Amino acid sequence: MVGASLAGLRAAEELRCEGFEGGITVVGDEVHAPYDRPPLSKQVLAGHWDVDRLPLTVGVDGGIDALDLEWRLGTLATGLDLDARQVILVDGERLGFDGLVIATGATPRRLPGSEGLAGVHTLRTVDDCLAVRDDVDAGARRLVVVGAGFIGAEVAATCRTRGLDVTILEALPVPLGQALGEEMGSVMAGLHRDHGVDVRLGTAVAGLDGGDDGRVERVRLADGTSIEADLVVVGIGVTPNTSWLEGSGLTLDDGVVCDATTLAAPGVVGAGDVARWPSRRFGELMRVEHWDNAIAMGAHAARRLLAWLEAERAGDEATRELEPYDPVPWFWSDQYDRKIQLAGRSAGADEVRVVDGSTDERRFVALYRRGDRVVGALAMNRPRQLLAYQRLIDHGASWAEAIGSADPNVRS
Ligand SMILES: Cc1cc2nc3c(=O)[nH]c(=O)nc-3n(C[C@H](O)[C@H](O)[C@H](O)COP(=O)(O)OP(=O)(O)OC[C@H]3O[C@@H](n4cnc5c(N)ncnc54)[C@H](O)[C@@H]3O)c2cc1C
Repeated sequence: MVGASLAGLRAAEELRCEGFEGGITVVGDEVHAPYDRPPLSKQVLAGHWDVDRLPLTVGVDGGIDALDLEWRLGTLATGLDLDARQVILVDGERLGFDGLVIATGATPRRLPGSEGLAGVHTLRTVDDCLAVRDDVDAGARRLVVVGAGFIGAEVAATCRTRGLDVTILEALPVPLGQALGEEMGSVMAGLHRDHGVDVRLGTAVAGLDGGDDGRVERVRLADGTSIEADLVVVGIGVTPNTSWLEGSGLTLDDGVVCDATTLAAPGVVGAGDVARWPSRRFGELMRVEHWDNAIAMGAHAARRLLAWLEAERAGDEATRELEPYDPVPWFWSDQYDRKIQLAGRSAGADEVRVVDGSTDERRFVALYRRGDRVVGALAMNRPRQLLAYQRLIDHGASWAEAIGSADPNVRS
C-alpha cells in the first residue's frame, strides 16, 4: 500500500474485512498517522477544532490497531519495479509485494514565483492548514485567494467568517465553473459577494511582491493593477502524485490509469484522488477528488486485488466476477452557513434546471441534463432532496422522470 491516507486506509480495512491474513505494509511520506482533510479548510482553519480531532478511524472492533498494519510513515516511495514486484523507497530499500494498492493522492499546484515568500500557502496537509491558521492568528487582515475551486472557496468563506478582508481572484468567468458549470458558478459568486467578499472573475495573476521582511505584500494582476495582501492562499488545482511511477510501465495520464475494475496492472490497483478509470455510466475517463470516492474506491480496489490474487493462485483470471467500479460521485462543501452538495456530473451538461427552491434564496436543487438523461444534481442547503436525486441518477433515470419526480414529501 503506498499512500497512508483515506483511500489507502480504507483499502487496508477492506482487505482485513474480506479475510486477508497476510502482511500489509503502508508506506506514506507524511509523518502523521492517517487524518481527515475536509476539516482543514473548515473547522480547523476556523479555530473550532484542534488537530487531535483529525485522525481517521475504522469501523472494526479494536480500531486501526486491530488491522495489524506495518506502518512506514515519513517514507517516500520513489519507484516501482513491476517485473521484480517491488516498491523502491527513498533510501533505496526495496519492498517486495504480491499485490499493490496505489493511493498517493495529489499535490496542490503552486504559483510560479511564490516560492520562499512568507504568507503564501497552498492547503493540502495538516501542516499547511496550521501555517495558514497561524498567520490568521498572528493578525493577518487581507487575504487574497488565488483560484476559486472548492478549496479556495472554502478558505475564503472560513477566513471571511473570521473577519478578514477577502478577495477571490479567478481566471475563469465564474468560480467553481469546472465543477458546477457557468450558471451555478454565478450563484456561488453571489454567495461570496453576499458575505462581502470581493470576487474578481476573468482575472489573471501576474505575480506576487514581497517586502524587505520576505513577506507577501501585494498580488500583481495581469491588467497592471495590484491588490494589497498579507496572506495569500493559492488554490489552482492539484497534480496527481504519480512521479514515483514514471518509467514503471503503468499508464500515467493525469493520474494512474486503471481499467473499469480499478486494476492498473496485474496485481496493482489504484484508488482515490490519484486514480483514473473509465466510467461506463458517464462515458468518460474519470478522476475524482472527493472524500467519498476515496472511501468507495479504496474498498473496491481492495476487493479487486483480492480477486486478482485468488485468480493468480488458481491460475484462472475468471475465478471471481470482475465487478466494474462505476459509482455516482458525490461531494459536499461547507461555505458560510450553506451546505453545497453535488451528485453525479455537471461537465458537458446540455441544460441545468432549478427544480426545487430558488437560487436567490441560496436554497435549491438544480439538475443537470445530458441528452435525455439526468446526470447530476446540485443542492444548496437541501441534503435530503439531494439524496433522492442521487438515487435517480444511480438508477439511470431519464430527464423526464427526474423532472417529474419532485416529491412533495421530500420538499421541506
Ligand atoms: C483542505 C481540503 C478540504 C477538503 N474538503 C472536502 C470536502 O468538503 N468534501 C469532499 O468530498 N472532499 C474534500 N476534500 C477532498 C478529500 O479530502 C480527498 O479527496 C481525499 O483526501 C483523497 O484521499 P486519498 O487517500 O486519495 O489521497 P490523499 O488524502 O491526498 O492521500 C495521499 C497520501 O499519499 C502520500 N503520498 C503521495 N506520494 C507518495 C509517495 N511517493 N510515497 C509515499 N506517500 C506518498 C501523500 O502525502 C498523502 O498522505 C478536501 C481536501 C482538502 C485538501
